Amino acid sequence: MSQYNGDLQTKLEEAGQYDNPWDMARAQLDTVAEYLQLDAGVHARLRQPWRGLEMSLPVCMDDGTVRVFTGFRVQHCVARGPAKGGLRYHPDVTYDEVRALSMWMTWKTAVVGIPYGGGKGGIICNPRELSVGEQERLTRRFATEMAPVIGTEIDIPAPDVNTTPQMMAWFMDAYSQTVGQRTPAIVTGKPIVVGGSAGRVEATGEGVMYAVSQVAEDAGIDIEGARVAVQGFGNVGQYAARALVREHNATVIAVSDSRGGIYNRDGLDVEAVCDLKENGGSVCDYKDAESISNEGLLELECDILVPSALENQITGENAGNIKAKIVAEGANGPTTPAADRILFERGIIMIPDILANAGGVTVSYFEWLQGRSQEYWTLEEVTQRLAKIMRHASREVWAVHKREKVDMRTAAYILAVARVADALKATGVA
Ligand code: NAD
Repeated sequence: MSQYNGDLQTKLEEAGQYDNPWDMARAQLDTVAEYLQLDAGVHARLRQPWRGLEMSLPVCMDDGTVRVFTGFRVQHCVARGPAKGGLRYHPDVTYDEVRALSMWMTWKTAVVGIPYGGGKGGIICNPRELSVGEQERLTRRFATEMAPVIGTEIDIPAPDVNTTPQMMAWFMDAYSQTVGQRTPAIVTGKPIVVGGSAGRVEATGEGVMYAVSQVAEDAGIDIEGARVAVQGFGNVGQYAARALVREHNATVIAVSDSRGGIYNRDGLDVEAVCDLKENGGSVCDYKDAESISNEGLLELECDILVPSALENQITGENAGNIKAKIVAEGANGPTTPAADRILFERGIIMIPDILANAGGVTVSYFEWLQGRSQEYWTLEEVTQRLAKIMRHASREVWAVHKREKVDMRTAAYILAVARVADALKATGVA
């Protein structure tokens, strides 16, 4: 594979220093392309999104005025299947962010080997400032404006930051009205009553557990009864913790949310903490534990650390103090490039986001399959299939990591870019 003698991992770390996400995504691609000695045409093709759309979205507000929002949808690559990726509603959404995220989705779907390309979309807005009616009209308008360029074999959106199953139901309904036929497979992350999949809510956290479980097995690390710390006890963090307790009899010693963290060296009652969160409380309301800061949690003596809150939590500053044997990125981008290097040199296994949290998009794929066939699967069926895909992908990334002597993030990129390039070559680049 490599006659290229540069230090790929160092170059990928340098690529990760760009502030602009699109510059970063392209620099990462350029580095891996050079390493793989990618065909120049394939590389050039992957440097550009296939299509990008900017939309003006007029919405009649509750007070009778009309406000025009800006929305984007980018389809990075469809060589391996239709574009797949979420819709994000946030005041800071930019076109560059959306196209970077669409490229990263291309790699994520390729790492786990599901037949999709990458896409992403967003609207510049703060949904908390919008009434439910305004959110509905905005989402419906978004679906209608996007309808000419999406389709069940073209591009299938999903929820992302600040978008909900309810919004996906509106999206599906507006699209269905526009094309004149009910089309559940146009979007995933829907409520179960309108064609959502069993197991979607748990999928990302469950997937984290399968990735950890498989990587530990390949690395020869026994995780039965492992001590676990989870930063960010939201959807991903809660289900990852529950799954590690269920499958590996783990002891969860610390969890946190935006208000702070809790720690008990003898273990927390995970279900009791989940109940607090479900009822709108914070993990800090849990009585049988000491408080700990979010930064302190990361440095605890534990076997498995699951950062599942925000970006840039494990940095060049604190990576030297991490004591876990395995770090599994439940969140997107919680580890900086400088920290990647330090963890690698200290022999800490870091399972990268594009592998560790790919359980969500994998069950989205199952939802799409079910929507197209109109045949719905049981939770057991979903779980079994998810386990198979996550374990297989984890074994593949581990094998590249060993063969190429690079960290698992670099290995995942090598695997993903090579897979997409092969698909482009097979279908013809130009
Ligand atoms: P969520 O909103 O359900 O949970 C996030 C949690 O992090 C909340 O408990 C919040 O209080 C906590 N938090 C916020 N700021 C924090 C801080 N400074 N320190 C510690 N905790 C903090 O979100 P989620 O769906 O669990 O997503 C979490 C991460 O996982 C995001 O990076 C997201 O992009 C990524 N992700 C989610 C999915 C999915 O299917 N939900 C899939 C792939 C990736």
